[in-house]
Amino acid sequence: SSVAPDLSHLWMPFTANRQFKAHPRLLASAKGMYYTDTDGRRILDGTAGLWCVNAGHGRESIVAALHRQAETLDYASSFNIGHEDSFRAATEIAALMPEGLDRIFLTNSGSESVDTALKMALAYHRARGEGQRTRLIGRERGYHGVGFGGISVGGISPNRKAFSGVLLPGVDHLPHTHDLAHNAFSRGQPAWGGEHFADALESIIALHDASTIAAVIVEPLAGSTGVLLPPKGYLERLRAITEKHGILLIFDEVITGFGRLGAATASEFFGVTPDLITFAKGVCNAAVPAGGVAVRRGIYEAVVDAAEGGIEFFHGYTFSAHPMATAAILSTLELYRDEGLFERARSLSGAFGDAAHALKGAPHVIDIRTLGLVAGIELEPRPGRPGARAAEVFNRCFDQGVLVRYTGDTIALSPPLIIEEAQIAQLFETISAVLHTVD
Ligand code: PMP
Repeated sequence: SSVAPDLSHLWMPFTANRQFKAHPRLLASAKGMYYTDTDGRRILDGTAGLWCVNAGHGRESIVAALHRQAETLDYASSFNIGHEDSFRAATEIAALMPEGLDRIFLTNSGSESVDTALKMALAYHRARGEGQRTRLIGRERGYHGVGFGGISVGGISPNRKAFSGVLLPGVDHLPHTHDLAHNAFSRGQPAWGGEHFADALESIIALHDASTIAAVIVEPLAGSTGVLLPPKGYLERLRAITEKHGILLIFDEVITGFGRLGAATASEFFGVTPDLITFAKGVCNAAVPAGGVAVRRGIYEAVVDAAEGGIEFFHGYTFSAHPMATAAILSTLELYRDEGLFERARSLSGAFGDAAHALKGAPHVIDIRTLGLVAGIELEPRPGRPGARAAEVFNRCFDQGVLVRYTGDTIALSPPLIIEEAQIAQLFETISAVLHTVD
């Protein structure tokens, strides 16, 4: 309708209430690499929505699949009944996961996927008679969504402080792996500190009995807290230590899954296989809310077999395997395959990295980190006003027709995998021009 909406009733996520209302920017439509705002301006999408529209916006085959689905079967639960596409979607997701992680639980978001994976880890140990394994280990600056499980293992202090009295007990945090003194301007995995950072896990284990620890959860590449790359050897070492102590390793691939690094998963990209992988976002190109967990077969068998005659795994969502989600998943995975988008991301990552690292020397830039089609450009914070400079860059880029994301004082970029080289140039040239205008 042509009547402008009342902006007062919607409670927006995080700090967006204040920031958005100071600069209301409304998107009206989207196609391919571009949004169009309500003023009719085209905005190049440098962030794939929120790291999720990996195949680009408004893809016709996905829209058509959703239409067909809405007309044929609007809803079917997964509670003792089902529908065929839920099984097809699980089979296709399993085919993209590392060898052995071929049991798939479907959710509606990354947060739900994380809470699901943590509960699965606890259920697995209980099923094997190791119910004392209840401790969980996350990482400082880890982001795992906003469920109580996710904020407990997450390493974002404002999130944790706000709910400190009711977080899960028995959670420790590994140090984060961001080290500007050794690893500034990393292109690909930083060289320094992999084993050093991972050995902190041995120190945590030494504080407790290893047999009380259920799982370690990390993002292979931490996205939302500023694009923090895993140093060489780090993930391998975490895998070796967890395996040695019978602790499950969970990779939260909500951002890295489905092509972001030029492979189906970060696990495949780094050659390290965890026990569980959480995913969401790119699994259905953000066409509808969907996510899930890929689980090593032995975990499924232990939990479900142990359940004979009892409650197997008291967990599931009304919208697990929602028909609109499975339609979106199947049509999205077909697009990724038909257009070779993961390979495309890999072959573009060189040009993308070149363009990002060309910002070295631009005003305020203290670090640049790139891997696959992800870039983090870290700015020197304004004294006493962390995040303010990056927020201004975000605002000015939008005014120049480019959508970026900022987190703290890092500008994060994660364009759709269909981006063209000229658009890569436009993205970084706009950021460069804006950095020269910001004080
Ligand atoms: N885990 C990771 C690694 C994420 O990046 C996110 C969202 N950015 C989440 C979990 C939470 O996902 P959602 O917002 O869909 O709940």
